[in-house]
Amino acid sequence: FKKLELPARSNDELYQMGNTFNKMMDILQQHFVKQQQFVLDASHELKTPLTVIEGYATMLKRWGMNKPELLEESVEAIYSEAVRMKKLTRQMLMLANPDEESNLDVQAVDVEKLCEETSKWMRRTYEQEIRVEAQTPGIHVLADEQRLKQLLVILLDNALTYSTEAIRVEIAEQADTVTLSVIDQGVGIPPEDLAHIFDRFYRVDKARARDTGGTGLGLSIAKRIVDVHGGRLDVRSEVGVGSAFTVTLPSATQKKAGESE
Ligand code: ADP
Repeated sequence: FKKLELPARSNDELYQMGNTFNKMMDILQQHFVKQQQFVLDASHELKTPLTVIEGYATMLKRWGMNKPELLEESVEAIYSEAVRMKKLTRQMLMLANPDEESNLDVQAVDVEKLCEETSKWMRRTYEQEIRVEAQTPGIHVLADEQRLKQLLVILLDNALTYSTEAIRVEIAEQADTVTLSVIDQGVGIPPEDLAHIFDRFYRVDKARARDTGGTGLGLSIAKRIVDVHGGRLDVRSEVGVGSAFTVTLPSATQKKAGESE
């Protein structure tokens, strides 16, 4: 990333071109550094489960055949680490896919219906209640339904993981936008971590997140999904009180003639 050496500031065309070239080089370099960091982080994250798998497999090779209790423990550990690696690679592929934007199947999606369906599906894995509250019935957003569902699963999964109480999903409509908030009364996120939770592989409590199957990629995927839809993802959180993640997307609700907004 060699930049041009430019003379003192001047207004001539050549200077302007050189300046633009240098700015582009800066941007390229930033992207390159980010990409390199992603590869480093990804390799590190994949190495951990692989080390565990290798350790148990070595133990099994040496002593496993004669010790049934070791066999059981090893198979269990190898299985759960393999599941973790599968989740990690699936999420990394999702993040690395550059075609995401062009492959969106954008339609009017009934948000309440999607939230109800997704919540019902999530309740099979978690015990807590999920309450879906829509300001008015029939609120629609412009989105790719599959992507939106994926986003909802990430936010609900986190809320259910980091809270033992019931979760609330609030749907509201503004003039041209729809907001969907996933609200929990869980552990909350410390202020110093809030700015980083959308970063790839970032976890507030690494050890705990590992126990709960967290990879630190969920929220960066969520942010990416919201971004390709031209929306926003905001968070409010307080330690010991809870968190609220709010998605803002373009509205697709058909306004009846004469209806005020
Ligand atoms: P993970 O797979 O670890 O959940 P995410 O990217 O989804 O990764 O979240 C990043 C981190 O943000 C989590 O490890 C957790 O520390 C924190 N976090 C996310 N959602 C919540 C929530 N609802 N309550 C408390 N902490 C949360």
